Amino acid sequence: MNRMVPVNTENEIFPHYHDTPVGRLLKYHNLAYPFDEYEKAQLLIGMCMDNRHQLKIPNNFAYILRTGGGNLRPAEFKISYAVSVGQVSHIALIGHSNCGMVNLYSRREQFINGLVTNAGWDRDYAEEHFNNFAPIFEIGNEIDFLLCETRRIRQRYPKITVAPLYYRIEDNRLYQLDETNTNL
Ligand SMILES: [Zn+2]
Repeated sequence: MNRMVPVNTENEIFPHYHDTPVGRLLKYHNLAYPFDEYEKAQLLIGMCMDNRHQLKIPNNFAYILRTGGGNLRPAEFKISYAVSVGQVSHIALIGHSNCGMVNLYSRREQFINGLVTNAGWDRDYAEEHFNNFAPIFEIGNEIDFLLCETRRIRQRYPKITVAPLYYRIEDNRLYQLDETNTNL
């Protein structure tokens, strides 16, 4: 089932994102809307640290938290900061295609060897590090994880609008996630 909905015109933006910072994010990035000037952040964006994707957005528009897989579990205090002190009322969670945090276990040897060779770690310590943290950062499937994380953050911050979006590395565009018929 294809749950990704493209945004190639303003009319394709989901009605509930119209006139919200999420709608503006889609317009800036996908539709090349001219940048507005902002004095304070309108939005918190959670996305993966992956170097292959970069958002086209104005200065000051958003707080951005980048983590492996866009997994915000280790970044919750920073979400709380953006919501309380930064007063943002919208969060965009952006998953992406071809994420390195999917099937992390297939890269176990590469990860451990890389720490030994590139960082100078002892092998035992590198193995322990992988074994301790891989279960926390493995995300399984990008879209299922994204929807799961969306639900989790909605429960944690019930007055905040949380929008799941998807960045396709192949065309550098953002897609909306259709959440109807998901069991999450
Ligand atoms: Zn990623």
